[in-house]
Amino acid sequence: MKFYAIGGFSEVGKNMCAVEIEGEFVIFDMGVYMDKIIQLEDEDERNAPTKDLIRMGALPDDGILDGKKVLAIVLAHGHLDHIAAVPRLAEKYNCPIIGTDYTLEVVKKILRDEKKKELEKALYVLNAGQTAKLSKNLQVEMVHITHSIPGSCLIALHTPEGIVTYLNDYKLDNNPTLGDKPNYKRYKELAKKGIKLHISECVRVEEEARTPPEYVAKVLVQDAIDRAYEDPSLVVITTFSSHIARLRTILAANKGRRKVLFCGRSLSEYIKIAEKLGLMKLDGAEVFGRRKTIERAFDSIVSKNPSNCLVVCTGNQGEPNAVLSRIARKEFKFAFEKEDQVIFSSEVIPSPINKANRFTLERDLREQGVRIMDHVHVSGHARREDHRDMIRMLKPQNIIPSHGHMEKLSSFAALATEEGYFLGKNLHILYDGAVLEIK
Ligand SMILES: [Zn+2]
Repeated sequence: MKFYAIGGFSEVGKNMCAVEIEGEFVIFDMGVYMDKIIQLEDEDERNAPTKDLIRMGALPDDGILDGKKVLAIVLAHGHLDHIAAVPRLAEKYNCPIIGTDYTLEVVKKILRDEKKKELEKALYVLNAGQTAKLSKNLQVEMVHITHSIPGSCLIALHTPEGIVTYLNDYKLDNNPTLGDKPNYKRYKELAKKGIKLHISECVRVEEEARTPPEYVAKVLVQDAIDRAYEDPSLVVITTFSSHIARLRTILAANKGRRKVLFCGRSLSEYIKIAEKLGLMKLDGAEVFGRRKTIERAFDSIVSKNPSNCLVVCTGNQGEPNAVLSRIARKEFKFAFEKEDQVIFSSEVIPSPINKANRFTLERDLREQGVRIMDHVHVSGHARREDHRDMIRMLKPQNIIPSHGHMEKLSSFAALATEEGYFLGKNLHILYDGAVLEIK
């Protein structure tokens, strides 16, 4: 068995790797590097030829797979750093693109955005608990796991040499607010059958703890909203648009007290998918996606009676084009007033560009006398002791950490060393472009 580290082994982003067994290849994930995408200034740059985007580091460099017999592209979940390179890279492989229903609905959305609708016929829904035969030798199985977007899975590739588990991203959430607990029973069964290679995310491996459950975020959000409502001011809350569990929590926390307005293009698109799959009910809340309709909603609803409104909007990372930044920059006729409150149900994904964007946003908000409530949030990523639990549960023969730069990969390797693995023997730190034979 050979392992190909393609993207996400030298950075937190553009996840993509492949496994080769007897000349047959299976690709896991096909994501973009969000930091680089955000840096692309205008439409022209974002529409640059694929080879230029690869050279700029925005897309994984998959040249090493040219001409190979790829049986399938399997996607772990619907975050853009795992799927958003599909419109650019998937075509040449001419193979099924496998994922859960939620993940593939998000893929459909980005295929439409990038005018690659013809790739839709390659999409193949495989939900948690289901298995698909890829060839005489290979079978792929989706196993439910908890993360911060619906439809997240551990991918188990069954091969004649043993199982490959791809676990990128996850948390171990025993009190989720949407969907089931992790499928511990199945992880243990896979371990019993024998896992030859385990590929794990390591985004928050340095943090010495277990990640609290989403239920904790539910309590934090409820408390933040209750206290904010004690004052007669506008309350604005922002979170990750794809975090459907959190959007449901926000809506429930309102308890019908105020008019809820979801504002922003990505929010409207993810909510549409969640409604379609029966994961979310709006219960009287309204959704405004386009800039013009947002402007109108601000004029006709929010400006008339701000203290009767809860605005849920995009912009938790301070993205300059998101609704929150635009309000803060006074691009709408509607503007913040002193004592208005902004709740960040999120954390800053710690890249220099995000930090700079958030600094600008918070400065603008403070200048207008807005009160800021930050960190009303729990993470969707496993921390160090969750990873330890998972290694002990899966008992893989070999481990490769992914979804990080050298520092994070090394931190995961140190943890695996504590668990009895040896670097260079059955524990491997790879960089983008590396190929490794797994003995
Ligand atoms: Zn993710």
